[in-house]
Amino acid sequence: MTAYPYETHDYDVVVVGAGGAGLRATLGMAEQGLRTACVTKVFPTRSHTVAAQGGIAASLSNMGPDHWQWHMYDTVKGSDWLGDTDAMEYLARHAPQAVYELEHYGVPFSRTEEGKIYQRPFGGHTTEFGEGPPVQRTCAAADRTGHAILHTLYGQSLKHNAEFYVEYFAIDLIMTDGACTGVVAWKLEDGTIHVFNAKMVVLATGGYGRAFFSATGAHTCTGDGGGMVARAGLPLQDMEFVQFHPTGVYGAGVLITEGARGEGGYLTNSEGERFMERYAPHYKDLASRDVVSRCMTIEIREGRGVGPNKDHIHLNLSHLPPETLHLRLPGISESARIFAGVDLTKEPVPVLPTVHYNMGGIPTNYWGEALNPTAKDPDAVVPGLMAVGEAGCASVHGANRLGSNSLIDLVVFGRAAAIRAGQLVDPKTYNPPVNTAGVDKALDRFDALRNANGAVPTAELRLEMQKTMQADAAVFRTDKTLAEGVAKMAKVAAKLDDLKVTDRSLIWNSDLMETLELTNLMPNAQATIVAAEARKESRGAHAHEDYPDRDDKNWRVHSLARVSGTKVTLSTRPVHVDPLTGEKEGGIDMTKIAPKARVY
Ligand SMILES: Cc1cc2nc3c(=O)[nH]c(=O)nc-3n(C[C@H](O)[C@H](O)[C@H](O)COP(=O)(O)OP(=O)(O)OC[C@H]3O[C@@H](n4cnc5c(N)ncnc54)[C@H](O)[C@@H]3O)c2cc1C
Repeated sequence: MTAYPYETHDYDVVVVGAGGAGLRATLGMAEQGLRTACVTKVFPTRSHTVAAQGGIAASLSNMGPDHWQWHMYDTVKGSDWLGDTDAMEYLARHAPQAVYELEHYGVPFSRTEEGKIYQRPFGGHTTEFGEGPPVQRTCAAADRTGHAILHTLYGQSLKHNAEFYVEYFAIDLIMTDGACTGVVAWKLEDGTIHVFNAKMVVLATGGYGRAFFSATGAHTCTGDGGGMVARAGLPLQDMEFVQFHPTGVYGAGVLITEGARGEGGYLTNSEGERFMERYAPHYKDLASRDVVSRCMTIEIREGRGVGPNKDHIHLNLSHLPPETLHLRLPGISESARIFAGVDLTKEPVPVLPTVHYNMGGIPTNYWGEALNPTAKDPDAVVPGLMAVGEAGCASVHGANRLGSNSLIDLVVFGRAAAIRAGQLVDPKTYNPPVNTAGVDKALDRFDALRNANGAVPTAELRLEMQKTMQADAAVFRTDKTLAEGVAKMAKVAAKLDDLKVTDRSLIWNSDLMETLELTNLMPNAQATIVAAEARKESRGAHAHEDYPDRDDKNWRVHSLARVSGTKVTLSTRPVHVDPLTGEKEGGIDMTKIAPKARVY
């Protein structure tokens, strides 16, 4: 029996996370009359989605011809043929509808002269199945698109009577005979414990960028959903694929949106050369992110970096008309001034590839249902558990996500999860009683960490993990760096048993909260480095110098990692190669999306 008294709340659905994915799911559940709780560790509009600048992709054709099939092709190619074809079709097909829905909910999109939603070019988004010029597909609310979406979805969720539990930290899932039946949470403000007993739990906890030293993600991006899933004995998928964004501000890590290059910005080396023309003659600075990040790294390695240490690159925007900067990129003008001390109307911004997005996560189907693949059934679902947004892996981004494809993923699959929950959850039935043994298990772990009295302070171990990941799971990887990384991370992870927590209070105890977060970051980091070491090919964001080519014969498979203590067990799951509909039914022509070399 746990020593902690707790309050029990019964709901049809509990959504953990109030970013774009969590809020879109919450709204969709509440709209259908399901009793819905949304539990979040930060105030909803402080979720990392608020920082999304550039925009949200959908083939609206407002700026020129576009088709969902072209968007699908670009997503397939962007994923380096690792994404699930059915999920990628679902995404591209439903994207326009999801954006119009946002418009009707009240998102203040930027407009064209005729009053249509404004769309800008973004890396990897093209026309004519990659044969035509770049397309303007990314819908934007200036450079504050995530901010606009989050505020709108929060307001709409309140309107539909979703109930918010704000500044509640979800500790662990309650698993009952292989099904998820709820979640245990700690209320940060007063130290009380709350058990959410539910028919469906949706994890929308975002990415784990903070497993690395330099990341564009918020300090709250600690992969809590992945940590909970790993502790439940469930796998994480494709964790080796970590996206480095080409333009993090040098030194600060703060993001300068790809929209800056979309609006005409370009990169130069120490010779003032616009080097992307050499690597990607067709799409140049708008090649996909992994490609641009690698080219920048090569330039720096070959001695053509800028600055006294020749260790970064310049992003030039000063040639753009001041009206464009003011109207389309007001936020980044401010970021450049504050974080780089640069007036971007006059000088270039110093930038460096920075960890930005996790393609991997909790495996799901395109309805958001979490998977626990077995050899017999690679698509077996975990009853009662869903995952959406950056925490999940549907998988539409495969080995590399295209810019502006995450925001659309949040709303398309947040909505899909709500539709599916509407089919699975019967609001007329009572919930089974709380699984008290499951609650005790979560609270025993909580109590052990609260009283942890070892030798290693949380902040110290976190830094060691972040530095190791930054050095050994980098833009370029080799057998040697990865093997070293695996060995180092096993040692780092072992130190979780020797943590020292100094604050024993239950109220606003940031020491304890950061410790819980570290126990979540760690399995994400371990899965990443071990899966990266195992994948003997180069694909998307995983650039392996000893295996420079993509190997579809052996490696067009999802990797699965189960993490238990310092041990990581790997297996694989086949990629879904069949689309939802074929060409005859108005779907995709498979010959158009067949694997080929990925050049921009
Ligand atoms: C700086 C930046 C700019 C970006 N720009 C773009 C862009 O222009 N276009 C694009 O498509 N993508 C962009 N991305 C990527 C995209 O914004 C993210 O992938 C996306 O916002 C993630 O949304 P999410 O809903 O999955 O999670 P988040 O927005 O990260 O929200 C996570 C939620 O989970 C909650 N949570 C987490 N753990 C717990 C816990 N233990 N207990 C309770 N609650 C918890 C948090 O409180 C929060 O509400 C950008 C990312 C960054 C970092």
